[in-house]
Amino acid sequence: MPSVISHAVVAVAAGITFAPRDVPHHFWSLSIVCSMIPDADIIGFSLGIPYQHLFGHRGFFHSPFWGLLMSIFLVFVFFRDIEIFSRQWFFYFIFFFLLSASHGILDAFTNGGLGIALLSPFDHTRYFFPWTPIMVSPIGMKAFFSKWGLTVIKSELLWVWLPSFLIVVFSTVIRAVVVRH
Ligand SMILES: [Zn+2]
Repeated sequence: MPSVISHAVVAVAAGITFAPRDVPHHFWSLSIVCSMIPDADIIGFSLGIPYQHLFGHRGFFHSPFWGLLMSIFLVFVFFRDIEIFSRQWFFYFIFFFLLSASHGILDAFTNGGLGIALLSPFDHTRYFFPWTPIMVSPIGMKAFFSKWGLTVIKSELLWVWLPSFLIVVFSTVIRAVVVRH
């Protein structure tokens, strides 16, 4: 995984870029939660679930299918007052789906661990992209505060934070220009 903080950065950047200005406060917390929650599957290690198992780390909970379930859950539980299949409803549905799916996709750009079960639960194959510039993050806090952790932070700043920041700046400028005209 890139560290969970970087997944949250993607969530905030995506929200600033794509969300309408009048989203409720809980939109932000839910966005951050759904971008980070796939890594809760590391609990499986202490439960004796092997890494390569369907429910192991980077397995089912890192798949776009999980993202779909997450999105359906969030929209139906936290946005009940919005008319189903309205434009606003579709925005939340697609946003939470893509954001949840972004976790596994981002992880597939990392250079270590097992790959990501992007087609789970239909196919258990673990995938990486052919290009893996992001240094894989160690599992566990202790290992994170090491030389490896520092290399991970540098790598994520370059490959996740910087592009996220540039996208936010770019979209903010575009919005300002559009509003002015
Ligand atoms: Zn992950």
